[in-house]
Amino acid sequence: SKCGQDGKFSEGELVPFGPIALNPSSGVLNYGQGLFEGLKAYRKPDGSILLFRPKENALRMQTGAERMCMPAPSVEQFVDAVKQTVLANKRWVPPTGKGSLYLRPLLMGSGAVLGLAPAPEYTFIIFVSPVGNYFKEGLAPINLIVEDKFHRATPGGTGSVKTIGNYASVLMAQKIAKEKGYSDVLYLDAVHKKYLEEVSSCNIFVVKGNVISTPAIKGTILPGITRKSIIDVAVSKGFQVEERLVSVDELLDADEVFCTGTAVVVSPVGSITYQGKRVEYGHQGVGVVSQQLYTSLTSLQMGQTEDWMGWTMQLN
Ligand code: PMP
Repeated sequence: SKCGQDGKFSEGELVPFGPIALNPSSGVLNYGQGLFEGLKAYRKPDGSILLFRPKENALRMQTGAERMCMPAPSVEQFVDAVKQTVLANKRWVPPTGKGSLYLRPLLMGSGAVLGLAPAPEYTFIIFVSPVGNYFKEGLAPINLIVEDKFHRATPGGTGSVKTIGNYASVLMAQKIAKEKGYSDVLYLDAVHKKYLEEVSSCNIFVVKGNVISTPAIKGTILPGITRKSIIDVAVSKGFQVEERLVSVDELLDADEVFCTGTAVVVSPVGSITYQGKRVEYGHQGVGVVSQQLYTSLTSLQMGQTEDWMGWTMQLN
């Protein structure tokens, strides 16, 4: 679907997956004026298909578009495009428990600019791919390294929106971490260099007794939809959840640590390495809290239990 300066997106069309034509002078190619989303469709045991909270992705894209000086599709247009794309790719939604269909909505400045300015025209695309586990470890614990040399975002920057440039800036830190054998990087805040922010593609939670803490959304981390969902699930299970500044010292002293995201769902953390020191959690096993939250969320997403939160959207 396309739109010009009036900000009204035209009715889109379904086309086979393949390369698209892009103006060499487009805003997205030259100035990074691009935004994306990520969400999943799951197959229920009865064969029908469920989307998980697609309106939340539509709203987050609108917030991000404002920051990036772009028009965004309405919530209705976004959800309708998601539904149509999934229905056209139904056969690629794996059976229950065997993965999901990942959807990647992209919004970009496709119109031509030469001097630095918002593009005069925008394109909205959704492509899909069946996916299994994000980390090669599966539900086995991942090993993170706390990064104090590279930062993902700074106050006043674009860390809280899903703009493409945020991901370009983490490629190098992630590559170095993977070469050293870590699963991913955990970033600290760029000002004090002691408060947790997030991992390259997921949010972080620290468990101590009955208290589950996670960094508050203050403009430098992405407001994850899985993060928000897990907070609600944890509260409903009787945990005390705190959204606040969480220091690296608390992280190293935690009972359990886990990450949340659309791709990673709930991934337990087995070890953290910080300034050359390695701390292990739960003897490299999956922590009981991580396991409980993983099971509650995934059984709801896959339609194995009743959707007591009202978060899923049935497609067919
Ligand atoms: N942080 C970052 C940087 C991410 O890219 C993602 C993935 N979208 C998340 C957190 C988790 O967000 P969500 O739960 O909405 O997928």
